Amino acid sequence: MHRSLLARFRQGHRTHRFPREAPTLPPLYRGMPRIQSEKCASGCTRCQEVCPTDAITFQSGKPTLDMGHCLFCGLCETACPADALTFSRDYRLAVNRRQGLIVGDGEADRAALVETANRVFRRSLRLRQVSAAGCNACEADTNVLGTLSFDLGRFGIQFVASPRHADGILVTGPVSENMKLALQKTLDAVPAPKVVIAVGACAIGGGPFRGHDEVHNGVQDIPVDLYIPGCPPNPWTILDGLLRMLGIETPATQK
Ligand code: SF4
Repeated sequence: MHRSLLARFRQGHRTHRFPREAPTLPPLYRGMPRIQSEKCASGCTRCQEVCPTDAITFQSGKPTLDMGHCLFCGLCETACPADALTFSRDYRLAVNRRQGLIVGDGEADRAALVETANRVFRRSLRLRQVSAAGCNACEADTNVLGTLSFDLGRFGIQFVASPRHADGILVTGPVSENMKLALQKTLDAVPAPKVVIAVGACAIGGGPFRGHDEVHNGVQDIPVDLYIPGCPPNPWTILDGLLRMLGIETPATQK
């Protein structure tokens, strides 16, 4: 007993000081895409050609990147001869409108206050996680929020086993045919008011499975309150999205 207390004492405080301090991100972290179309060579579509999920489209010669389909693989950044498309280290990617995931020139839109969530769930948010045929990467990066370093519980956010005890659902995976009804039934079992959170490229738009006969390209026929892009999103990106949805300010990325 003494040894474990001593070890605990030596370890000190292990929970990160987020959101008072910005998170420490891995060196290879790819965050908010930045597009400077003025640098694009005319007629060049290299980034679009290499993209495995058709996340890049051109409008009047200018590239736009849909983070809802993006896997953050970085192929486009590598392929671009003019450094017109780069990935910053900004981890705050979550938005509450699908359109907000489309990145073009200039600053991206951010998750504004979700009135309902803030007013009702600000101090206590219970979520039911639904893995709708996910590969377990988004599930793992969501689950890790319950561990010591992140300690999701300190913000009043918790995952619950029954949708009847939940205030909303957090969906991962492309929503396979087999999971579609289960997802709908889970949502119906959540008492109103409720929130729906789509985590990862698959849940937002089908990800690498988009267009496959056996999937429904993510959460399509259910209104979504929060979109958290990535494949999988970094745990800090997920936590940032949840907190900003509840109206809790989060710090910009350290340089
Ligand atoms: S980083 Fe995203 S947009 Fe770029 S090639 Fe990969 S999936 Fe496509």
